Amino acid sequence: MIEVSSSMEDIRELIEKYALQNAVKYKAAPNSGAVMGKLMGEHPELRARAKEVSPLVNEVLAEVERTSLEEWQKRLEAIAPELLVQLSERKEPDKGLPALEGAEKGVVMRFAPNPNGPPTLGSARGIIVNSEYVKKYGGKFIIRFDDTDPVKKRPMPEAYGWYLEDCEWLGAKPDLVITASERIDLYYPIAQELIRRGGAYVCGCAQAVFKEHKDKGIECEHRSQTVEQNLLLWSQMLDGTLAEGEAVLRVKTDMHYKDPAIRDWPAFRIVIASHPLVGTKYRVWPLLDFESAVEDHLLGTTHIIRGKDLTDSGSRQRYLYSYLGWRYPQVIHWGRIKIHQFGSFSTSKLRKAIEAGEYTGWEDPRVPTVRAMRCRGIRPDALRKFMIDLGVGETDISISMDSIYAENRKLIDPEANRRFFVWDPVALEIEGDVPALARAPLHPTADRGFREIPAGNNLFICKSDLEAFKVGDNIRLKDLCNVEITGLEPAKARFLGKDMGKRTKIIHWAPEDGVKVKVMKPDGIDEGIGEAGIAEELGKVVQFERYGFVHVNFLGEPIVAYFAHR
Ligand SMILES: [Zn+2]
Repeated sequence: MIEVSSSMEDIRELIEKYALQNAVKYKAAPNSGAVMGKLMGEHPELRARAKEVSPLVNEVLAEVERTSLEEWQKRLEAIAPELLVQLSERKEPDKGLPALEGAEKGVVMRFAPNPNGPPTLGSARGIIVNSEYVKKYGGKFIIRFDDTDPVKKRPMPEAYGWYLEDCEWLGAKPDLVITASERIDLYYPIAQELIRRGGAYVCGCAQAVFKEHKDKGIECEHRSQTVEQNLLLWSQMLDGTLAEGEAVLRVKTDMHYKDPAIRDWPAFRIVIASHPLVGTKYRVWPLLDFESAVEDHLLGTTHIIRGKDLTDSGSRQRYLYSYLGWRYPQVIHWGRIKIHQFGSFSTSKLRKAIEAGEYTGWEDPRVPTVRAMRCRGIRPDALRKFMIDLGVGETDISISMDSIYAENRKLIDPEANRRFFVWDPVALEIEGDVPALARAPLHPTADRGFREIPAGNNLFICKSDLEAFKVGDNIRLKDLCNVEITGLEPAKARFLGKDMGKRTKIIHWAPEDGVKVKVMKPDGIDEGIGEAGIAEELGKVVQFERYGFVHVNFLGEPIVAYFAHR
């Protein structure tokens, strides 16, 4: 602590310490506002001397700016090593993901979607957490497309690529990509081996008949067929002698198993349909429990993270593993996440709604897909951090997008330029010497220079702002001038002066010849006029002042931006 009477030399050294700390932290020239803030915050006694201190800050900053990051670190270590330590301690501790049992020698983990639509936020959780474990322990992260249902959960050809794109965007590029429909030939010999070992039989019961048997715990007549009979029937399923619906291959479990869902489950069925990837090459298709069980073995999966609503799968698959003498992977069951703003959604439901034209597509800001998040300017790191912090608990959790937005805001706020966008615009005519040009900072704290906005006597302001005014109100038009409201219908004002006067309400505005802008929000559309510079922000996130963060997606008449959050 320094005394009130600290010499200018002492103060100078303090400034240098904070400037260096700021520079090292952000790996950039120190920010004068931040340094001044830190100085006054830690040493309130200096506030009274701000006038003396301020030029000193500029002097020191200019000096620091002339040297490099390496020199900043060296110098900070020399004069204030404790500040350097503070910087390294500030890193977030590992929270969220618990250790995995038996993972010490590395893991093989997969995320196995059915590509019947693009990844949703639920898929993002699976992609992020599985890949994060592989990053943590070393090993292999696999994306496996469980796409062997050509009818009910029919894959979308585009969705395969979408998954890979989104994985990469999420920082989870897979080490291996597997497509089940292209590996059917690997599954047939395994089915045959299973039959040989007495672990499966071809059942010709009608579905309803078998269901009755199953519910009552009665074995059907096919269960006692010999291996030879089953092998023959299996070959007849494959060669077309048996028609669709005439037979399925069932895995023998226990017809008295407490949960009927586990009793002699179907592994293969005949489906005469064209698959989007392999066409009509196959007529016998594995069901998900068989396909995924076999793949987990073939791929050497060590750990499976699975929804706790799918515990049945494990029980069914363990029979298969035991017939074949395989070792079942470790399983972690997790609860579902429900996102408050989106309610419960399923990919098939979304697909129907999109096909019906209820949404503009999979990028529509109203849908919970990773693509939509991307288009709205949500950063992958915000999603990653959020999903990892959620952990892998067994309880179902209801989350709010607000938590993701809060993470995202931290990332985009320092980078996003500020721009004026007036929604629901109304014309304001101002009498007097209004400057022809406004100079407004691109960012309130980062030193990023200014933007020039044509101004003049005719501007646009938001209708909602105007509605709150009465004649005689003094209003500050941000970064331009002060006016007095002289009329409401139509809106008129009188120029008062350029300097910030006494406390007045500050509003933003748009130039008369501004650009048309349309903002697509999760809960609607806003249209209005913005400053022309918005066109320079294509593909970037900007903050529309007093409105929120948006991602500029399309330049045209109008410019289209997707709303991220406030
Ligand atoms: Zn049967």
